[in-house]
Amino acid sequence: MASCRPTPEPVAPARGSDPAEAAGPAAQPELGSGTFDVEGATITVLFDGNDPPLPPEEMEGWVLRSATMVSDYLGEFPVPSLEVTLVGRGWGGVGFGMHQDGRWVTVYCGRRTNPRSLENDWVMVHEMLHAGFPDLTRDHRWMQEGLSTYLEPIVRARAGNTTEESVWGRWTRSMHHGRPRSGDRGLDITHTWGRTYWGGALFWMIADIELRKQTNNDKSLRDVVRGILREGGNGRANWSTRRVVEVADAATGTTILSELYATMAEAPGDIDLDTLYEELGVTNIDGEVFFDDDAPLAHIRRAITRP
Ligand SMILES: [Zn+2]
Repeated sequence: MASCRPTPEPVAPARGSDPAEAAGPAAQPELGSGTFDVEGATITVLFDGNDPPLPPEEMEGWVLRSATMVSDYLGEFPVPSLEVTLVGRGWGGVGFGMHQDGRWVTVYCGRRTNPRSLENDWVMVHEMLHAGFPDLTRDHRWMQEGLSTYLEPIVRARAGNTTEESVWGRWTRSMHHGRPRSGDRGLDITHTWGRTYWGGALFWMIADIELRKQTNNDKSLRDVVRGILREGGNGRANWSTRRVVEVADAATGTTILSELYATMAEAPGDIDLDTLYEELGVTNIDGEVFFDDDAPLAHIRRAITRP
């Protein structure tokens, strides 16, 4: 079981989020019953620990909203069933989460959990995304954590649950944690916290941008994860990274993933983030994000979070 802590500091609440809009018009199950369907998948919600901080139907609405966003991005809910346990513990808001085997997700919810913290939450989407990617051996955990870390804000932005400014604010603030430091030997060998979460996120961000560059935004990371799912690569499957890379290349008709793997996983390939942000037209000045739509890769930046 992996516990997930990709963010060292609290994430700023998203402006203009609309949970009702994010849930989409199709999903109207009976909340409060403990079980509902998302795209044919059965989600079961269980409560453990202290009494839930909010009425069960509100907590279930959050689980449903998160599952719907993940399903919309992936084109399907990635596993036939998922058991979500919400553990009431502590005094804070939504705490850390865990995912296991594409079958179970656990998220801790403290007494200060309120409707706004559920609206702005990222933990549930992060954990559910783990169910949409195969299990790898321990040395390659960066690939799993990095994918959930990179995709979670994208999934939420495309659903209207967070903003482009918020997504790039977080990346420009934290992505540098993923760069190799002196003595680093590549993502497959150097397993620090920064390299596992943000190094993995950086790997997938570069993959996404390179795919979009080479195909004029026709292919993206979404084609990679959907292609892997088509081959049965969800959280219940055990895969090698070789298979991930082969299927990713086949799904996109490129060799981008295999080349990137050799550069960043098997060697300490670094990324010049300042130059990349300049090309994408994004600047973070004292926590405020500015976009330049005349930058050479601005069309790619906009496409990443576009619904
Ligand atoms: Zn995780």
